[in-house]
Amino acid sequence: MTSRILVISYHYLRSKEDIPHPGIHPLTPESFLRQIHSIQQNHPVLSPSQFETWMDGSSADASSVLLTFDDGLRDHLYAAAELEKSGLRGAFFVCSRPALDNKALPVHKVHWLRAHTPPGDFLNQFAALLSDDWQQMVAQPPEDIRRAAAETYQFDAPDTQVLKYLINFVLPYECVDEITSRMLVGHGLDEMTFCALSYLTNEEIHDLSRRGHLIGCHGHLHLPFSRLARGKLQEDVAKNKAYIHTVTGAQAGWLAYPYGSDWSLPADTGMFAARAGIRAAFTYTRGWNTQSTPRHRLCRIDCNELEAHLTVC
Ligand SMILES: [Zn+2]
Repeated sequence: MTSRILVISYHYLRSKEDIPHPGIHPLTPESFLRQIHSIQQNHPVLSPSQFETWMDGSSADASSVLLTFDDGLRDHLYAAAELEKSGLRGAFFVCSRPALDNKALPVHKVHWLRAHTPPGDFLNQFAALLSDDWQQMVAQPPEDIRRAAAETYQFDAPDTQVLKYLINFVLPYECVDEITSRMLVGHGLDEMTFCALSYLTNEEIHDLSRRGHLIGCHGHLHLPFSRLARGKLQEDVAKNKAYIHTVTGAQAGWLAYPYGSDWSLPADTGMFAARAGIRAAFTYTRGWNTQSTPRHRLCRIDCNELEAHLTVC
C-alpha cells in the first residue's frame, strides 16, 4: 500500500479568556487534547525519527501523521508533556531572535496587540505611529496595494485591509518592530517581559530535545524568506542553526519556512535547502506527502484545517 503522510502544524494553545479580541486563532488546551486523541484513534502518528526513515525510502503505515509546532511558544510545553503521555514525539520549529537578541518577533507582538485591543483601536493606534509617508499610503493607497490588500483580506473593511497588508507584506521589519514595541509599553510590557511570557527558554528547548522531540529551524527573524536577499537569507538560517546547535548539541536538519505560503518561499527551494544543509523543509502547501514530494517543499496543514484532510471522529 502506498504510504502517505499528513503533516499538521500547531501554534497557539490558549484558553479563550486569554484572548479578549480577535487576532489569533488558538486551539484551547482541551480541544488540542481531543484532536490528538482522535488522530491517534484513526491514524498512526510518526515520530520525527520515523519520518526520517520514511524520507530515506522506507514505507510507513498508510495515511500516517506527523505533528509539528511553530515559533517556540511557551504553549508548547503543555503540548509536549501531553504527547509524551501517549508515547508521541513532535517536531518543534524555533526562531533564535528572542534568545539571542532579547527581542520578540514582530508577528507575535502584532498578534498579542490585536488580541488585547478592540480591532478599530489597534489599527488607529498603529497608523498614528507611522511616519508621514506611510500614513499617506494608508490614507490614499496606490491601486496595486489596494487591490492586493482586498484580495488577501476579503472579509475586512478597506482601511483594515490596507493596514494589515502593509504590516504583513510591505512595511520594513524595523518599522513594525519599533511601533509594536512602543504599543506594548502602553500595555505595561517591555520587550524582555514579553519574551519571557511568550517563548521557550534555552533550557526548555534543550529539555524537549533530550526528551526525544526534534528541534528545527524557523529562521532567526521570522521574515518571509522571499523578502531576504541570498546573503541575508544564508546569514539568517546560519544564525538559527548555530543557536539550535548551541542549545541542543544537535545539528538542525529540518526547517519550517516562516509563513510557508508560496509567496514567502525562497526563489529556488531545492538550491536553498542544499546550501543550508536542510534535509526536510515544510511549506503550507496543503495536502499529503508521498515519496515523490520534494523534501525541500514538503506539504503541511494548519490544525484548524484538519477535518478537510483527515478522518477523525
Ligand atoms: Zn511562524
